[in-house]
Amino acid sequence: MKVLITGGAGYIGSHCSRYFLEQGVDVTILDNLCEGHREAVKGDRLVVGDCGDGALLDRLFSETAFDAVVHFAAFTSVGESVAEPRKYFHNNVENMLTLLNAAVDHGTKYFVFSSSAAVFGEPTCLPIPEDHEQRPINPYGETKMIGERMLADYERAYGLHSCSFRYFNAAGDSSDSTIGESHHPETHLIPLVIQAALGKRPPLTVFGTDYDTRDGSCIRDYVHVEDLASAHYLGLKYIMEHQTSEQFNLGSENGFTVLEIIRAFEKVTGISVPYTLGDRRPGDPAALVAGNEKARELLGWKPGKSTLETILTDAYHWEMKRTY
Ligand code: UDP
Repeated sequence: MKVLITGGAGYIGSHCSRYFLEQGVDVTILDNLCEGHREAVKGDRLVVGDCGDGALLDRLFSETAFDAVVHFAAFTSVGESVAEPRKYFHNNVENMLTLLNAAVDHGTKYFVFSSSAAVFGEPTCLPIPEDHEQRPINPYGETKMIGERMLADYERAYGLHSCSFRYFNAAGDSSDSTIGESHHPETHLIPLVIQAALGKRPPLTVFGTDYDTRDGSCIRDYVHVEDLASAHYLGLKYIMEHQTSEQFNLGSENGFTVLEIIRAFEKVTGISVPYTLGDRRPGDPAALVAGNEKARELLGWKPGKSTLETILTDAYHWEMKRTY
């Protein structure tokens, strides 16, 4: 099987690319390295370029008859999307459209899409089921909702089967610490907690202490990046076998507050985390927890690494050994 993985040098994309290679898939990675890292890709599989570059896509799809595209390349920061929506609509919507058109023009039949829990906005129930109403409260979530809608229309019109995964909070790193999370600047909670604890940055700011949650800070569902990787492979196999399209929420079904993450890290490592209490970050919903029954039942997915202890241990080891 030949698969084009966009954003395969990024955080989730690199773990997924590695998993696909381990399963014997012939992987080509397309990444413009604006956020990805060359070091995250082993061998010579990386093409440096942009999903919005129609001429480059034409060349790649002409050279290789890809069975599927797995599309990670996107901007992912909620706060930045509120401040700079045009950047998000350009990359996450316009460039995805260029990629979709190249895929259908060249006869690719399957598409796996990195969607997000952000499509749901403020949920009306927890854990969130797949068919929960989609009312995003930030531009990032809007772009992912539009992506899912484009896929539904492309299946109806062009027969492109797709699998969309709404990630909750991707976290953790490879268990051998060879690839991991590295954003510049870093905005995600777990690496920030660890870097603050190690004195690599100033104390963490807890964004909001007046949410309607058990301690006032936001609740999120943290899912191990290696569990996400296996879900993508299972999802692709599923849509190929059933000639269908599906959407799945990927989380652990456990929600933790920001303050609980801090305490859990202190417990796992014995290192204290300096932090201050701050204002809410614009665009943040109070609580997001995924229902994952559908992925377990239809795909046989087992999020076995998505415990706080494994996530925080792997993230801590990566932070100590990181090479990029
Ligand atoms: N958060 C925080 N301080 C930080 C970064 C994040 O309190 O410096 C909170 C954030 O408000 C959210 C949670 O940690 O409730 C997870 O945020 P992250 O940016 O990691 O992921 P998101 O939920 O935005 O996808």
